Amino acid sequence: MHLVMIGGSDAGISAALRARELNPGADVTVVVADAFPNFSICGIPYYVSGEVTHWRNLAHRTIADLEAAGMWLRLDTTARRIDVPARKLLVTDADGKEELLAYDQLIVGTGAVPVRPPIAGLDGADALGADDGVHLLHSMGDTFAVVRTLENGAPASAVIVGGGYIGLEMADALTVRGLAVTQMEQLPEVLPTVDPSLGALVHAELATHGVEVLAGTTVQQISRAAPGQAGRLAVQATAADGAPVTRLADMVLVVVGVRPDTALAAEAGAMLGLKRAIAVDKEMRTNLPDVFAAGDCVITHHRLLGKTYLPLGTTAHKQGRVAGENALGGNRLFAGSLGTQVVKIFDQAAARTGLRDHEAETAGFDPVTIESAADDHKAYYPGSHRITMRVTGDRGTGRLLGMQLFGHKNAEIAKRIDIAATAIFQHMTVDAVSDLDLSYTPPLGSPWEAVQMGAQAWVRDICWH
Ligand SMILES: Cc1cc2nc3c(=O)[nH]c(=O)nc-3n(C[C@H](O)[C@H](O)[C@H](O)COP(=O)(O)OP(=O)(O)OC[C@H]3O[C@@H](n4cnc5c(N)ncnc54)[C@H](O)[C@@H]3O)c2cc1C
Repeated sequence: MHLVMIGGSDAGISAALRARELNPGADVTVVVADAFPNFSICGIPYYVSGEVTHWRNLAHRTIADLEAAGMWLRLDTTARRIDVPARKLLVTDADGKEELLAYDQLIVGTGAVPVRPPIAGLDGADALGADDGVHLLHSMGDTFAVVRTLENGAPASAVIVGGGYIGLEMADALTVRGLAVTQMEQLPEVLPTVDPSLGALVHAELATHGVEVLAGTTVQQISRAAPGQAGRLAVQATAADGAPVTRLADMVLVVVGVRPDTALAAEAGAMLGLKRAIAVDKEMRTNLPDVFAAGDCVITHHRLLGKTYLPLGTTAHKQGRVAGENALGGNRLFAGSLGTQVVKIFDQAAARTGLRDHEAETAGFDPVTIESAADDHKAYYPGSHRITMRVTGDRGTGRLLGMQLFGHKNAEIAKRIDIAATAIFQHMTVDAVSDLDLSYTPPLGSPWEAVQMGAQAWVRDICWH
């Protein structure tokens, strides 16, 4: 049995590890376009900031670890064509030499590529690129280019186009590196994956650390600034009221999301769906015989929404593991995502799981969201922090649909959102969250855990109005 994985990131490597774990005799080959298999690209901002001191430290596992697990790594090798009837994969190595790899089962984990928005200066013959200090950010190659700009160009300032979680992490990272950062986001508030009231708290945290935040600002053009200006690049944008906005900066980072990288699978006949991601069933099978797919290149099964596109590292790991098991003949199901995520912004963290009001309405629920706040631990013990919570439940059934949290980075925001994720996963009502037997000691919590107090605020509000 020869299993071939295309892609050496979260999905491809998770699939390969699982296959080798289940069948140490399985012949497993991972084809990777670059030389950085199993790197934690989620950690890129912390290498850029200098908190992670060497890029090699970002490896979840070294090449030697992966080989010791029994997989063959074909690095700097690009998959070019899948011949589905013949079960053969055409690959080229770094020198362009072609080779046909025969497979019994194939797992496509080609991931995603950064979106290149229609901003003048990013495309065309005179497009600005990494050598000019204009960067997109997704791969280790992109990371080395950013670090080269930082080390060789000694930039004093940066504009970050995009106020999603990667843009925020990079605003934090570049500020830590001593750059003056301007963040431009076309939507009315940063971190648009949470409700605007929490986005406003994120906005305030950025401002506290000196980041100039321009929400409601759409970037139109990036160009070289005239010599003698206060920055090498000029970023031209339009504010929400139509007023022109110009900022000069030494580097520009464009981080406005990703799109699934599916050309290879599509050319082989794989069905695409939402956002042109590969359609898969819960076993991570595509419509093509003996071809699975997982990670950022696929449509994600969502436990409340049905189908969505939700590219996240946690999901890619789980889907890859399922694909690896099933490629060996298993029938494991991917249980579905809730879009659980958390981001650190300087000293604060924001997290969400499940649905917000508008998403819940689309899914046919009758959602109500109640905002409240509670301490992360007993306030009499030093170092306590308030946590702002937004709890979303269904008015009719009382079912917990979603939760959003904002609070200090030491307030266990990530693990608290995981309580909510677990409760939603198990179809609990908001009221039932109060029944959970959760831990307590004054320096670390309260007799009523903060998330339970948020749930009680929701129940109070719904019952009394
Ligand atoms: C800066 C940053 C921070 C992030 N932070 C978080 C976070 O905190 N939490 C979280 O859950 N997620 C985070 N993510 C998202 C997460 O990293 C992705 O969801 C995850 O890496 C997806 O894994 P993947 O294997 O599906 O695809 P990718 O990571 O996109 O990898 C695709 C792989 O396929 C290879 N490949 C592509 N085409 C070919 C081909 N034709 N031939 C051979 N190889 C090919 C690529 O070289 C690569 O190895 C972050 C992403 C970035 C960029």
